[in-house]
Amino acid sequence: MSTFQDLGLNNDLLQAITDLGFIKPSEVQQKAIPILLESETDLVALAQTGTGKTAAFGFPMLEKIDIDSRTTQGLILSPTRELCLQIANEMKAYGKYCKGLNVVAVYGGSSITDQARDIKRGAQIIVATPGRMKDMISRRMVDISKIQYAVLDEADEMLNMGFKEDITDILSHTPEDKNTWLFSATMPREVATIAKKFMHNPQEITVGNKNESTTNVSHEYYLVNARDRYQALKRLSDANPDIFSVIFCRTKRDTQKVAEQLIEDGYSAGALHGDLSQNQRDLVMKSFRNQQIQMLVATDVAARGIDVDDITHVINYQLPDEAETYTHRSGRTGRAGKTGISMVIVSKSEVRKIKSIERIIKRDFVKKEIPDGASICEVQLMSLANKIHNTEINHEIDKHLSSINELFADTDKDELIKKFFSVEFTRFFNYYNKSKNLNIAEGSYDRDGGREGGRDFGGKSSDSTRYFINVGSKDGFDWMKLKDFLKEQLELGRDDVFKVEVKESFSFFNTENDAKEKVLAFFTDFKHEGRFVNVEVSENRGGGGRRNDRRGGGGKRSGGRRDDKKGGFGNRSDRRRSEGSSSKPRRSDSGGDSGGGNFSRPRRSRR
Ligand code: AMP
Repeated sequence: MSTFQDLGLNNDLLQAITDLGFIKPSEVQQKAIPILLESETDLVALAQTGTGKTAAFGFPMLEKIDIDSRTTQGLILSPTRELCLQIANEMKAYGKYCKGLNVVAVYGGSSITDQARDIKRGAQIIVATPGRMKDMISRRMVDISKIQYAVLDEADEMLNMGFKEDITDILSHTPEDKNTWLFSATMPREVATIAKKFMHNPQEITVGNKNESTTNVSHEYYLVNARDRYQALKRLSDANPDIFSVIFCRTKRDTQKVAEQLIEDGYSAGALHGDLSQNQRDLVMKSFRNQQIQMLVATDVAARGIDVDDITHVINYQLPDEAETYTHRSGRTGRAGKTGISMVIVSKSEVRKIKSIERIIKRDFVKKEIPDGASICEVQLMSLANKIHNTEINHEIDKHLSSINELFADTDKDELIKKFFSVEFTRFFNYYNKSKNLNIAEGSYDRDGGREGGRDFGGKSSDSTRYFINVGSKDGFDWMKLKDFLKEQLELGRDDVFKVEVKESFSFFNTENDAKEKVLAFFTDFKHEGRFVNVEVSENRGGGGRRNDRRGGGGKRSGGRRDDKKGGFGNRSDRRRSEGSSSKPRRSDSGGDSGGGNFSRPRRSRR
């Protein structure tokens, strides 16, 4: 096994490596460092984040540049501001004994003149996001005409984010004879094209196989009805009291919605997506890094560059379209030599996607069952027991001990323990008591027809309202078109219209009860293609769609007969009583902390 000394690094770097506590070089470091130190070559390295690739290009760059010169010699391009800052900080830490080293990070959302001033002081290495770099070049704030080393870090992500033209433009301002080192987690065709265009006979190294997921991560999938997705997410969290996770959704809207719902249900969660300001995103990331947030719900774009080492679980609330995106998601866990779990919640229609991801990442998924209520209660109870066992005694309590002893004078140890644990346990027990089995068999009938239109968020169909609408297939609608039409007209989200069932001259659909007023108000005197569209609450609330309505056709609406008899809302406090409700078991409703949370959850999000 080689050591950092064997790799041929100088004493300044070796000293920094000792300070950082790195004991042995990681695989990508073992492969890349000797090549880059020994030869002036281009390099294509396939390596995930978390494999130690920053040091793999950072050490050789620091070793090779002339620190006595103030000329910019190294340029590192990275996809996000987060990553850019992180690389700059790592480079500074690696080079802390390299006297005179100046590494400057250049990224959007921060003063360009300050960054230009820092560069003018003599930055040997610039770490930049492509957009800001291009901007600085066009404003002549930076001179990269003499760089000797260019690194394209997370090249696949940069191309995904549409930086191809910016990168091309930036590289056109650099010398022909520089060395280019390209690092990418995956090797889609676009990255191969870039490598071909800008690099000369690059040496290639691969850590793991191309597009393959890291071996530190195990992959699991959970098969549920689409409408139970959110309940499944909560159970997975409750069954893992020490979870520290990123939950991936496909859209900004779902991301926000899942995060809000989790917070409302007492979890320490936060949302990260592109509709938040940079400041809001920074705050969320800060809380996540400090582990004040246990569940970070994120879109793929916003999560790029999340570089937190201790993430225990990645949860795919919805699967991405591309297997490569899955690789990136799962690469957020299992970092820096640790193990991690990537979980996927799938409905029946998505199972085939699992198979194709398996083929691409060359890893098998294990089909797992969403834990039942009893086992979650047990896990939570034992987690609490362990926590209490390991708790250091706060002797401030001593002075109150005699009063407490007096109160429990007649209580024996067993009873006391039972009472003590019941404070927390009852909450979970009541919540999960009589909870249903969320798992479905692979061949079973998915009540949502396996479609995404199923209820995703919190609860049973009794929380939803079924409507009749007097348009159908003879008006050119199929279930998808009608769903899109309703979503667009009502300005509702992707999952807000569900159980759409189209008949010849009429159809049915569901929304959550909360949307009922809006739906009915909207379709009062609403005309589509010159014809009145009539929407009423259907007496048949289920998915069957049988309605005792014989009109079926067009005609002016009758004035809105609304049969609400079965469409009543569950009363809120009732909704808390069982898992059918959206809420998580709560702490006592009095008292400041109305959040639930796992027994062992260390800190809570701000409400
Ligand atoms: P990276 O893939 O560069 O984002 O690195 C992931 C994490 O691993 C960072 O926190 C590095 O500081 C850390 N790291 C890099 N190389 C080593 C090493 N040889 N031993 C232990 N940790 C490392």
